[in-house]
Amino acid sequence: MAAVTELTLSALSLELEAGRVSSVEATRGCLDRIAALDGQVKAFLAVDPAQALASAAASDARRAQGKRLGPLDGVPLGLKDLFCTTDFPTTAGSKILEGYRAPFDATVVARLRAAGAVFLGKQNLDQFGMGSSTEHSGAFPSHNPYALDRTPGGSSGGSAAALAARFCFGALGTDTGGSIRQPAALTNTVGLKPTYGRLSRSGVVAYASSLDCPGPMARTARDVAMLYQATAGADPDDSTSLRQALPPLTLDAGVKGLRIGLPAEYFGGGIEPEVEALVRACAQALERQGASLVPVSLPHTRFALPTYYLLACAEASSNLARYDGVRYGPRAAGATSLKDLYEKTRSAFFGDEVKRRLLLGTFALSAGYYDAYYRKAQRARTVIARDFTQAFGQVDLLLGPTSPAPAWRLGEKLEDPLRMYQMDALTLPASLAGLPAASVPAGFTAQGLPVGAQLIGPAFEEARVLQAAVALETAHPWHQKAPVL
Ligand code: GLN
Repeated sequence: MAAVTELTLSALSLELEAGRVSSVEATRGCLDRIAALDGQVKAFLAVDPAQALASAAASDARRAQGKRLGPLDGVPLGLKDLFCTTDFPTTAGSKILEGYRAPFDATVVARLRAAGAVFLGKQNLDQFGMGSSTEHSGAFPSHNPYALDRTPGGSSGGSAAALAARFCFGALGTDTGGSIRQPAALTNTVGLKPTYGRLSRSGVVAYASSLDCPGPMARTARDVAMLYQATAGADPDDSTSLRQALPPLTLDAGVKGLRIGLPAEYFGGGIEPEVEALVRACAQALERQGASLVPVSLPHTRFALPTYYLLACAEASSNLARYDGVRYGPRAAGATSLKDLYEKTRSAFFGDEVKRRLLLGTFALSAGYYDAYYRKAQRARTVIARDFTQAFGQVDLLLGPTSPAPAWRLGEKLEDPLRMYQMDALTLPASLAGLPAASVPAGFTAQGLPVGAQLIGPAFEEARVLQAAVALETAHPWHQKAPVL
């Protein structure tokens, strides 16, 4: 029999329900793999085997009494270390939160806990979500299980690497400008950035509040849908969480009759030809299942990058003001005044990329520059969102690449922040517009590197995005191709 860790989350859930596999067996399977292989992959920042096995045993006991809590009961999951958790440290991948213990669980974590999920540990990320490769983690970079000398993407790269390496069955990540979709694309996994506000931000360490979206990651769209269902929905602790009831999921409805738009700006110049060819093959697979393909244009796509990096840095400069050596984490020694304490602490414990962004953001918000930069970027954001509104007048969904290139070598773009930022060119627009978008496996390059296809839907239409994602993975079950570790 194949190892339990090869099962998808949905398959494991059925095995658990039928009593053919216990949660302790599944959890031990994950922990054994982590112990054997995470020295190479470096997906986790913290793992707690005793605690995970204890919650697995509790899940098995519930099942034995006929009191299973639902489909996630007993399923081992990982969490990007940007979610507050009472039972693990919460570091946001930064030295400035070393030793911090959150006094409460993030709402989405609490929902998974109440559903009986088993938490294996906290997963690596670029500090505060600022990065596209995990190389801006304060701890260490994670490695792509399909090519260990390459990045698994970022910022939720630890979670994506863990999924690809079969260390866990699902995970929660966050996506501010692509941090769920891009690592999913680079690791042959699936990630959903929901509509802004669909999942509560309460207890998620803030990066850029008008863009931050927690969301599910797993190896298949069906698995992602299960995690989405368990975590989405209004939360009184987040004033921006959406109040609407969740429309039912329609995973098996297929794509017959759906109009799929192919944005001209997402193909051609700047996109690696192999990536483009694989994503076009996805479009054809959907067409064969009855969808119609429609050429569309999102004319302001090229402004998304400067717009995003301006707004995200501005919001970050305000959000990260709280790390001052007084309220959280470590404090630099030898300060002679309060101002000196702030300066010494922040310069000692924030990473270089964080500092770069805080400087940029503070500058953009300063008196005299506010109109030229921040206000102008807000206007550009509106124009970018309007592109989507116009496109969705003609089509039901949009399809394009998630990332312009497959996984690059660790170190390759570290010295050139702009080249790193360019890897986000195709995920940023949907973030600025607040739209739901998923990345699904689209196949492999000749070198064996995974490629992801991005599906973008109109606001609130996660169900439609997931429905097309399921259709794609049924046509091309790329997720079955495991890395060789
Ligand atoms: N790579 C982008 C950034 O560095 C997006 C990050 C994210 O979505 N958290 O800002």
